[in-house]
Amino acid sequence: MKIRVDDNVLVTKGRDRGRTGRVQRIFADKGRLMVEGVNIVSRHMKPNPQLRQTGIVQKELSVPIANVMLICPISNEPTRVGMRRLADGSKARTCKDCEEVIE
Ligand SMILES: [Zn+2]
Repeated sequence: MKIRVDDNVLVTKGRDRGRTGRVQRIFADKGRLMVEGVNIVSRHMKPNPQLRQTGIVQKELSVPIANVMLICPISNEPTRVGMRRLADGSKARTCKDCEEVIE
């Protein structure tokens, strides 16, 4: 997986294009993820006395992983992610711009 929970990402497509946020959840099987503050929709609900909710509920929806880019923690710029095999045999993510390993 090239994007992980707690990564900072930039939204590159859709209504929230240009927004950045922290990845909260990843749905690998669906190829989607949830980003804090991104793709918030307001749902109008019928007033429900038992839930004590008002008529509008705000909800974050997932976005396709293809619509976000990782923000490199070193350069703070959106980047593509590469993979590199380290000396100990494990795989690490790398930034394709600055070539640094991203934790
Ligand atoms: Zn970088």
